Amino acid sequence: MSDLLRELWSRAECEEPVFSAEEIEWSPPGQFELLCDLGLLKETDRATWARCEACGDGHVENVAWVQNATTGRSAPFVPCPENGGAAVSIERLRRWAIDLDAIAQATRRALGLIGNDSALLPGRVWFLGRRHVAGRFRDFFFVLGAAREDEHMLWDRCRQIEDAPSPVILVPSQTPSERRAPAFRLADLASITDDRIVVDLDYLGEALPSERGVTPAKTMASFRVPADATWADLRLVVREHTIVARLRDREQEFGFEDLGLSGIDDRLWQLLCSFARLGGQTPARSRTVSEKGAATFRKQVSDLRQRLSTVFPIDGEPIRAVHGTGGYRCLFQISLDRTDGFPVQPERWEECRFIELPDGRIAISVRTKEVFATRTISEETARRTDLEAAERYGVRTEEYDLRALGLADQSSRPTAEGRTLLEFLRDGGKLARRGDDKDILRLAQRLRDWMGLDAEPFQFTRSRTLWSTLFESSSHRKSSRRS
Ligand SMILES: [Zn+2]
Repeated sequence: MSDLLRELWSRAECEEPVFSAEEIEWSPPGQFELLCDLGLLKETDRATWARCEACGDGHVENVAWVQNATTGRSAPFVPCPENGGAAVSIERLRRWAIDLDAIAQATRRALGLIGNDSALLPGRVWFLGRRHVAGRFRDFFFVLGAAREDEHMLWDRCRQIEDAPSPVILVPSQTPSERRAPAFRLADLASITDDRIVVDLDYLGEALPSERGVTPAKTMASFRVPADATWADLRLVVREHTIVARLRDREQEFGFEDLGLSGIDDRLWQLLCSFARLGGQTPARSRTVSEKGAATFRKQVSDLRQRLSTVFPIDGEPIRAVHGTGGYRCLFQISLDRTDGFPVQPERWEECRFIELPDGRIAISVRTKEVFATRTISEETARRTDLEAAERYGVRTEEYDLRALGLADQSSRPTAEGRTLLEFLRDGGKLARRGDDKDILRLAQRLRDWMGLDAEPFQFTRSRTLWSTLFESSSHRKSSRRS
């Protein structure tokens, strides 16, 4: 008697993973039907060999197709050196192959994996998807024939396994001889029930080396993504404690827990906020950043990349290195939650510059100093915290006409506040007006809103009855004022 369910995992490792009609005939009732119903077995081409039943020897011979002289039809025949041979029924030559893609799919479902799965090496290696297990995100691979002679070829041709931060290899029954990553036998982990394959995730979680200091995310959310979606289709708006994701007509809000983040102090959250403030691109690496600081930053970007790919299962990388600069660029759109306003939030007015351009538009530049705290908590003493700051500088410039800034009316005539701004710019940031000048106070409010700063943009010197801008002011147009 051949137990098909038990045999499935070892047979899957064979060059030709098939069951013969004879094996199926002698299997426990219901097993064959179950495997067919689950889509794991599919009928394949007929056997080209069969056991001789004409003598008692049980030898195996190639099937000969012999034409019947009377009927003209061909029929299978097993030759026998003992007594010439005997005809064999076509039914006995039927075979059923294990559908390896179906096993990969069923395993992916059983583990609740997300992300885009793919066959990396057809028939041998599959990327099944990823999920959070034992304190961190793991990439799951399904590998067949890991103990065959050509094993090294699998690793050479599937660099994705080695490149994955935390790969987990699942095999039917033969673990790799070269230990590249934690490997588990589905023969041990999986069971086949009435309607599906079940994989013992608890066992997997306990057997995997857990990652200390990483917040477990039990309820990672995931965004349903159309198959043809690209990262460019995704827009993230970063709010105070959530992000809002938009992709075509779908919108979803994610909290810290949904993103697998511990809270506002989570370094990945801070990195996400930095990208949002910078409009999706970090500036080139500053010369003052140490190699170690740069490596830590690289690691953080890589972690964020992986986290985003988990929540948003879109093909390809969400963040790319800007070649040769040490900076990074998001392939998706990301901004702070500001419906109108400068895309980057400066820390101080002194980091801003307003220029009136020859065509009348206003160029606003913000010099950003980004400090990425790269915190490493030593394992011996959790109290001691090493803080390393990686500083980056960059300038972000946007050009607006006065109307976009809310400082001109529908026919582009500057409002009183708009005229006040132009006077400031044309006079190098100085303006002689009373301390309670309403236009200046209203302009100040408008600029605070636009730049997302709480501090006042203007300073009033009582002794000289003079207003001055804290930001750098200039104009490419001549002053229209006559003084
Ligand atoms: Zn024989």
